[in-house]
Amino acid sequence: MRTYWLEHAWLGTNVEPGVAVEVADGRITAVRTGVPTPPPGAEILRGLTLPGLANAHSHAFHRALRGTVQVGSGTFWTWREVMYSVADRLTPETYHALGRAVYAEMALAGITCVGEFHYVHHAHGGTPYADPNAMGEALIAAAAEAGVRITLLDTAYLSSGFGEEPNAHQLRFSDGSAEAWAERCAVLKERDHARIGAAIHSVRAVPAEQLATVARWAEERQAPLHVHLSEQTAENDACLRAHGCTPTRLLADHGVLGPRTTGVHNTHLTDEDIALLGGSGTGTCMCPTTERDLADGIGPAVALQRAGSPLSLGSDSHAVIDLLEEARAMELNERLRTRTRGHWTAAELLRAASADGHAALGWDDAGNLEAGALADFTTIALDSVRTAGPLPRLGAETAVFAASAADVRHTVVGGRHVVRDGVHALVQDVPSALADAIEALRG
Ligand SMILES: [Zn+2]
Repeated sequence: MRTYWLEHAWLGTNVEPGVAVEVADGRITAVRTGVPTPPPGAEILRGLTLPGLANAHSHAFHRALRGTVQVGSGTFWTWREVMYSVADRLTPETYHALGRAVYAEMALAGITCVGEFHYVHHAHGGTPYADPNAMGEALIAAAAEAGVRITLLDTAYLSSGFGEEPNAHQLRFSDGSAEAWAERCAVLKERDHARIGAAIHSVRAVPAEQLATVARWAEERQAPLHVHLSEQTAENDACLRAHGCTPTRLLADHGVLGPRTTGVHNTHLTDEDIALLGGSGTGTCMCPTTERDLADGIGPAVALQRAGSPLSLGSDSHAVIDLLEEARAMELNERLRTRTRGHWTAAELLRAASADGHAALGWDDAGNLEAGALADFTTIALDSVRTAGPLPRLGAETAVFAASAADVRHTVVGGRHVVRDGVHALVQDVPSALADAIEALRG
């Protein structure tokens, strides 16, 4: 058993000064407030401790694109060509090295759990590896070595567009049929740090008549099911041409929507789409830094939440890895669009970045500082140039609107101190690990 003494702690509604958190077997066993000085032997966490952050949407290999895809004009679709050129070069070994470094970067940013939307399954031409799950296993091992939890959202990706075979790049992503996808995924085993979920890449990538196979697989296992949804208007137009309905309606008609399902982006929706998503309790994962980077547009997050869709956040293409930035960007986008402020409180934004993000990934027992929860938390410095000054009335505003990933001092996952004083305890020299892994891919 171990005791942590938190100088300040966010307890869901307000910041409490002086909190003792007791941890045994990776879980919080007690939270005591009104503890002005550290108990003897306690680990001292100076700053503001938050529940661990959940990055609900990641493609780890996109990290290799950062900084190199900002020259010239173009669209999501031209960016995708560059992204495919990196995907072409991944092997289980290079993906493991990159994943380990990227997940270590996440731990340094206070992220304790990642949802990896994983679709690069096979070798060139679609030939399976000796272990058909070698790529997914590489990511699960990478997360363990970086000290973070992972939900591997194993992704069905079967077609290039409506009625189109996979192109040369996409052969690596395809199992041929949803049934073959389901058989391969059934072999993946959950572990203490890893859960297995399902994903439908998009309505472009899984033929309508095979959507139910993926939905059923997730249903049988009570596993999370994620899907890229209406990120681009071109997808909506093509779906209308092929099926005479919106992507959301297509998913609804094939049993994909529901409380274990999360639509990622949900950018270009009709009023009926919003009602379908909200009414079914389907979640929405917003990825604001990617959506602005790829010129996607601003999704109707306020309307979705009001309709009943819980919100989570993801760094997706990893243009930046900073869940605090994702949280404030959701609010700030809405301010720009409406020219009014205060669509979400800092507390609500933090909830999307922690408890609701964890729930979207199947970790209902993480994301809160309370007895019984997994002992996953992260501490933000309150004495940096960004955060120095008085704590505001409720306290979370400093974390959400002033701090950045660079202010993360400690990250604890399952009671294990993964980041201490801003240094990763398991991966030595994370910047070099990133540079080496990216160099190996891009040359
Ligand atoms: Zn994505």
